[in-house]
Amino acid sequence: MRREEIEPALRAALEASLAFQGSLDTARVGASAEAPSPGPLPEAGVGAAEALAELVRRAEGRAVASAGPRYFHYVVGGVTGASLAADWFASALDQVASSATGSPLAVDLEEAATRWLAELFDLDPDAWTGVCTTGATTASLVGLGAARQWWGERLGVDVAEEGLSGLPRPVVLTSGFVHASVIKSLAMLGLGRACCERLSSDNRGTLDLEALERRLVSMEGEPAIVVATAGEVNSGRFDPLEAIADLCDRYGAWLHVDAAFGLFARVAPGVADLARGMERADSIAADAHKWLNVPYDSGFALVRQRSLMAKTFRLVAAYLPPSSAGGPPPRVPANLGPECSRRARALPIFAALLSEGRAGVRAMVEGHLQLADHLRDLVAAAPDLELVDETRLNVVPFRFAPAGVRRRDLDELNRSLGQRVLEDGRVFVGTTRYRSVICMRPAIANWRTRMEDVDLLVHVIRELGARVLEEPRSAPSGSPRP
Ligand SMILES: *Cc1c(COP(=O)(O)O)cnc(C)c1O
Repeated sequence: MRREEIEPALRAALEASLAFQGSLDTARVGASAEAPSPGPLPEAGVGAAEALAELVRRAEGRAVASAGPRYFHYVVGGVTGASLAADWFASALDQVASSATGSPLAVDLEEAATRWLAELFDLDPDAWTGVCTTGATTASLVGLGAARQWWGERLGVDVAEEGLSGLPRPVVLTSGFVHASVIKSLAMLGLGRACCERLSSDNRGTLDLEALERRLVSMEGEPAIVVATAGEVNSGRFDPLEAIADLCDRYGAWLHVDAAFGLFARVAPGVADLARGMERADSIAADAHKWLNVPYDSGFALVRQRSLMAKTFRLVAAYLPPSSAGGPPPRVPANLGPECSRRARALPIFAALLSEGRAGVRAMVEGHLQLADHLRDLVAAAPDLELVDETRLNVVPFRFAPAGVRRRDLDELNRSLGQRVLEDGRVFVGTTRYRSVICMRPAIANWRTRMEDVDLLVHVIRELGARVLEEPRSAPSGSPRP
């Protein structure tokens, strides 16, 4: 480890990063090359310059262009100049973002960035405590951790101190929109995956609002946790947040909203109605690495009752600042979320918001909504494509459904086609099962994405779809494949 190594290593990283970013608009999206064997741990090191060079060599063909404009898989944003550079700078500063003692800078900016996020989403910044997390999964862990504490207190138990033993199984009520990460959070919190009751009324997963009310009535005043989804991953649909908030008010339930990307509907007046009612939640989970286009990994939680977060995540050690000494709450983000040591994740968020302002974020989101509309138009106009749902946000579920193919063969056809699209690499899009069929679910969330990228997506799917159709089947048609 030598001081002289830092500058050449950083310059090499800059050069390689510029080359990679510069290639994103035209590069093949998927990974292609074979992975070289890592070999045994070297006894003697090669030094920073050679290590960097090897890393860059390994990235070639093995790094997915998920930061590029034709990556429509999952819901993935790219990186912007401001967010990427700030993320690097955060690494260079290498702050201990656990407390204001560890890094006044990191905590100042975490408080500023989470306040700005609240303002961006038209949420009262004084009413919420924000904390940066690795993503929406950990943000839900934070929100549901606070909910668990609330629930225990309603039953006379301080869960953070006493644990869950002796308590009844909690009741967590959701629609079929609920994301896997919420279920994972329930498991991590010891509440159990099985406590989640999905109350849906159709094959979309739409909330059965009457069933929700009946279930809350049946609780007879016992506390329930309701998890609403703002932006379902297959469709971008929203649970009816205002109606849910009304019920939560009436029956005294906790409302957690998983708004990983749907929170951004609140910056675009054309779709903000979808997200109305979110301001009445008790906790909100969201991502910055999706629609804000901050590098992975970055999310945030907003919780109304700071004291519940602090009880759940309190970190007590003789060498750390006391977590409750009267007076203003100590500035210790490590007391508000799961990590003890944590990086300064707020820096790229702060830089992104400063760089773009409200208007810049709004313009990007509205641009993506227009592109999603364009995609819906292209699908509607193509005789061999079929929209699987009419939706309004940035996710467009559709499938290849050419005339002459039996409906029951379409799932297999779309599954094969989805695999083919990934191998082809010009565009990247995932398949899913939604409304009981296999379909593509492109999401548009990268600032680089343009109309021609969306055009290419449709072109590639139709071209490869036609090719898959021409191929001889490996099993007699109509008989299920193994
Ligand atoms: C992406 C997503 C999550 C999980 O977020 P991570 O950042 O991957 O932890 C949760 N909920 C919804 C609706 C999502 O889209």
